Amino acid sequence: MQLTLPPRVSPVRFQAALNAFEKVVGKSWVLASDEDREAYSDIYAPGSADEWPASAAIAPGSVDEIQAIVRLANEHKVPLWPVSRGKNLGYGSAAPRMPGTAVLDLGRLQKILELDPKLAYCVVEPGVSFFDLYEHIQREQAPLWMSVPGNAWGSVLGNALEHGLGYTPYGQHARNLCGLEVVLPDGELMRTGMGAMKDNPSWHLFPMSYGPDWTHMFTQSNLGIVSKAGVWLQPAPETSLQLTWNIPEEGDIGWVVDTITPLKLAGVIEQNVFIPSWLGKIVLLGQRKDFWDKESAMPEWRVQELLKEHKLGYWQVQIRFYGDEGLNKARADVVKAAFKRHLDAPPREDWWRQGDPVNMFDPTMGVPTAVPLQMSDWVGGRGAHMGFSPVVPATGAHVVGQLKRSRAIIAAHDVDFYASFTIAGRFATNINMLMYDRDNTAQVANMRKLFDALIAETALAGYGEYRTHLGWMDKVNDTYNFNGAAQRRLNETVKDAIDPNGIIAPGKQGVWPAAYRGASKGG
Ligand code: ADP
Repeated sequence: MQLTLPPRVSPVRFQAALNAFEKVVGKSWVLASDEDREAYSDIYAPGSADEWPASAAIAPGSVDEIQAIVRLANEHKVPLWPVSRGKNLGYGSAAPRMPGTAVLDLGRLQKILELDPKLAYCVVEPGVSFFDLYEHIQREQAPLWMSVPGNAWGSVLGNALEHGLGYTPYGQHARNLCGLEVVLPDGELMRTGMGAMKDNPSWHLFPMSYGPDWTHMFTQSNLGIVSKAGVWLQPAPETSLQLTWNIPEEGDIGWVVDTITPLKLAGVIEQNVFIPSWLGKIVLLGQRKDFWDKESAMPEWRVQELLKEHKLGYWQVQIRFYGDEGLNKARADVVKAAFKRHLDAPPREDWWRQGDPVNMFDPTMGVPTAVPLQMSDWVGGRGAHMGFSPVVPATGAHVVGQLKRSRAIIAAHDVDFYASFTIAGRFATNINMLMYDRDNTAQVANMRKLFDALIAETALAGYGEYRTHLGWMDKVNDTYNFNGAAQRRLNETVKDAIDPNGIIAPGKQGVWPAAYRGASKGG
C-alpha cells in the first residue's frame, strides 16, 4: 500500500516524525513500508482498503513510550489511531478513519498485571487477547470465567472500549471496565475512579469516581489512549444448564422477546440472550453455493426446505443458567413454564458440572472462539462481513418492527438475510450480518447502497446504531441529531479543549477535531 500522508504534513516533516518516533521505540517498531501499511489495512474492507490507509504504524513497548510518542505526535502534527490488537473485524480492523493517520499499535503491551480470584477481576494491558487471558486463568487455576465476543481474536480491553457484547451474565463488556489508566492527548497520564489516589486498592472495585466519573468518556472515544484497565470477571459457576428451543416461525420472535425480557429484568435469566436466525447455523455448515447456486438472494421456499432438512427452527433460542445446581433448576423451571405458554415442544436440556469438558465453540461458557468468523466464507472469494447494528427496546413490538423493516430493505437489495437479536437488558441489539466478496465490485457496491439505506430508514423509524464501520461513522453520527446535534457539539468542544492539535483518532465515531473538521472529513 502506497504512502498517504496525513493532511498538511509534508514528506520531509513526516520523515522527521518517523525519525523521532524511532528514537523512542527503536527502528524495528516504526513500521512504514508498503507491506507494513498493508498489514494495518482493513482486511474486511468493503471494496478497496485504500480508502482508509494508514501512513505508518508505531508500536510502543511501555506506557512511558506511549506518552513520549503522543508528545512527539503533537510536535510534528502527525495524528495517531490507537488500536489494542486491531482485530475489530467488520468495523474497520486496524485501519484509521482519516487517511494518513498513523496507527498506534498497543499490541506489544501484553501483561496481565493482576488476577484476583477472590474479588473476581483482572487488570490487563491493551495487547492481552481473550485467548491470552483464558490461558492465564487456566494456568493459575483461578475459579473465574470470562465473557467473550464472537471474535475472541481481539483484545479484552479493546473490545470493551468498543462496546463489544458477549453472551454470559458479564456480556456487556464496557460495564465490566472498572478503573482505567489513560494517556491524555497531551501525553499526561491519569487514572479514573479510585485510581486518582495513588495505590488505592479499590481502584478496580468501585465503579465510579469521587466527583464526575470519566471512565466511559474513553470508550468509543478519541479523548485518550487507555494503557491499562480493570476488568470484572465472573466467579466460575459450579454447574451450568442450557435450554435449547427451535422456534419455528420468523414472527415468533415477538413472543420470544416478550417472554425473555421480564425474566431477564427480574434476574431469573442473567446472561445476554443471543438469538440468531437460521442462517447463523447454516453458515457454519458450508458455503452459499452448497445450498443455493444462484446469484440472487435465497428465496423463502428454499429456506423452508433447508430448515426441514437440517431440523432447524427459523430461530434458535438458547438460555444458559450459571451457578448452584438447585438455583439453576429452579430458574429453568420458571423459564420453561413461560415458554410452554407459547410452544408445546420441551427444550433440550444440557447440564454441565465443574470438571466436565466445556464446549470449545460455545461463547456462552466464556471460552474464546473465532468460529463465528466462518460466516465471512459464506459468499466465497475474498469473503468478508459488515454488521449493521441498531439498538431497539427489548419488547416484541419493537423487535418485530425492526425485523420487518431491515428484512424488507435487505430483500429489496437482493441480499441473504441473517439477523440476530441479543437481549442484553432493557434493550436488544440487532446485528444484521452482510457478507460479501471483496473482489466482487458489483456485490460490494450493492452492499454499500444497502448499508446507507439501512441507516437512513432505521433512523427515520427512530432507532440508531451502537457501533459501525469506519466508512459510516459520520453518517451514523449524523443520525444522532437531537437539538442540532447537541451531543456532537459537546464532544467537539471537549475534543478541542483537551486535544487542540486533533492528534488522537480524528473522526472516530464521527467526532472531528477542529484541525480536521470540514475539509478533510470526506475521507
Ligand atoms: P480488538 O482487537 O479487540 O477488536 P481493536 O484493538 O481493533 O480491538 O480496537 C477497536 C477500536 O477501539 C479501535 O479502532 C480504537 O478506536 C479503539 N481502541 C482500541 N484500543 C484502544 C485504546 N487502548 N485506547 C483508546 N482507544 C482504543
